[in-house]
Amino acid sequence: AQEGILRRQSARESAARTYARALPIVPVRARGMTIEGADGRRYLDCLSGAGTLALGHNHPVVLEAIRKVLDSEAPLHVLDLATPVKDDFTTELFRTLPSGLADRARIQFCGPAGTDAVEAALKLVRAATGRTGMLAFTGAYHGMTAGALEASGGAQDVRVARLPYPQDYRCPFGLGGEYGAELSARWTESLLDDTKSGVPAPAGMILEPVQGEGGVLPAPDAWLRRMREITAARGIPLIADEVQTGVGRTGAFWAVEHSGVVPDVMVLSKAIGGSLPLAVVVYRDDLDVWPPGSHAGTFRGNQLAMAAGTATLAYVRENDLTERAAALGARMLAQLRSLAAEHPCIGEVRGRGLMIGVELVDPTRGGAGPAAPAPATPIPAQGKAHASVPSGPDPDAPPRTTRPHPAAPELAATVQRECLRRGLIVELGGRHSSVVRLLPPLTITDEQAAAVLDRLADALAAAAR
Ligand code: PMP
Repeated sequence: AQEGILRRQSARESAARTYARALPIVPVRARGMTIEGADGRRYLDCLSGAGTLALGHNHPVVLEAIRKVLDSEAPLHVLDLATPVKDDFTTELFRTLPSGLADRARIQFCGPAGTDAVEAALKLVRAATGRTGMLAFTGAYHGMTAGALEASGGAQDVRVARLPYPQDYRCPFGLGGEYGAELSARWTESLLDDTKSGVPAPAGMILEPVQGEGGVLPAPDAWLRRMREITAARGIPLIADEVQTGVGRTGAFWAVEHSGVVPDVMVLSKAIGGSLPLAVVVYRDDLDVWPPGSHAGTFRGNQLAMAAGTATLAYVRENDLTERAAALGARMLAQLRSLAAEHPCIGEVRGRGLMIGVELVDPTRGGAGPAAPAPATPIPAQGKAHASVPSGPDPDAPPRTTRPHPAAPELAATVQRECLRRGLIVELGGRHSSVVRLLPPLTITDEQAAAVLDRLADALAAAAR
């Protein structure tokens, strides 16, 4: 049966698929972290619906919440009417929000996907500020609709000024660490302050506290605080896209909490729906000036998703899964770093909580000698908003002594296949698809974590052979 399904699916389904397209499995049953294929094989799932399944597959509390709604004959679809199910969801969600936002938050339910909530956030800040341009970051992923794509850098000729996201290993300035982050902050300031930059005051800044699809890049806390100061001082709303980082994933309920930053707007999806489609934008009440009907969408009122979401949020909170993600994630990171010491093909291990990335590189190329000096304009100009971007590398900052090795996408694809052969599902990400991403459910046991690392280590050894 499995072969037939795979054959028919690959013949009928568009080549535009992305997630898991390379994985020749036909899942028929799943529980917790385990997926069973039509051929009876079992896999540990570190993809978790791209980070959606905070409690893993078919968690009993989620199933029970869904069944309860079904049995109650509550309407399953009500657009945006008030319902008890929605009231419970909003109450539980607001309970988790960072203080500073929770007490003055408004919520807009959006279409079922994260990208739709990103669109809503962009519209919201445009309406609130009367401005149009947006600030977004290199490597960002916000979704696949036109506005979200703009902010992700996939569209052309748009009013998005793209700023360098700080990262250590492939620092856009060739500096790394705090120096690179400092330059990113200075770059942002000069873009906003220098009249010569030609960038009109933007409607908002959107960022991921940890870039996920971009290759698992945690933003330094100090940098996030700088972004908060820079935007607050200029009346620019800060939008945190926590679609992937939310609900305990990074070891804080919301990833912005690590830095203490309180954003003006939060975009939430994935895990908040407890594995069913749900997306919302939550924001400070004084931004709520967009007129009625500004962001409609037929599927805003999915009661099953809200009930599954309430159960998930409450379970994470009541069972301290956030702390569990922090502690287990730190341990897994440390073990992966030891593994990196044995495998020169691991360029960097990074992450936060249970959002982990292993960047694979070609160790036979690059890596020696001083890093290439940062170009005067490291981010290529695109569209009008980028005219004459000022600033450059800080001449006082110490240069890196080594240069990162080139990314190894083919090796990463081989590792992904070798993982699958050993019963482990991992996703690839990053600009070159060379980062092995681990997004296990927060309910992962110590034994499962050990098995994930063992299988990954075996897969790496086999792939490097
Ligand atoms: N923002 C972030 C940070 C994401 O990771 C994603 C999805 N990977 C999205 C937005 C888009 O969400 P969706 O795929 O549900 O539209």
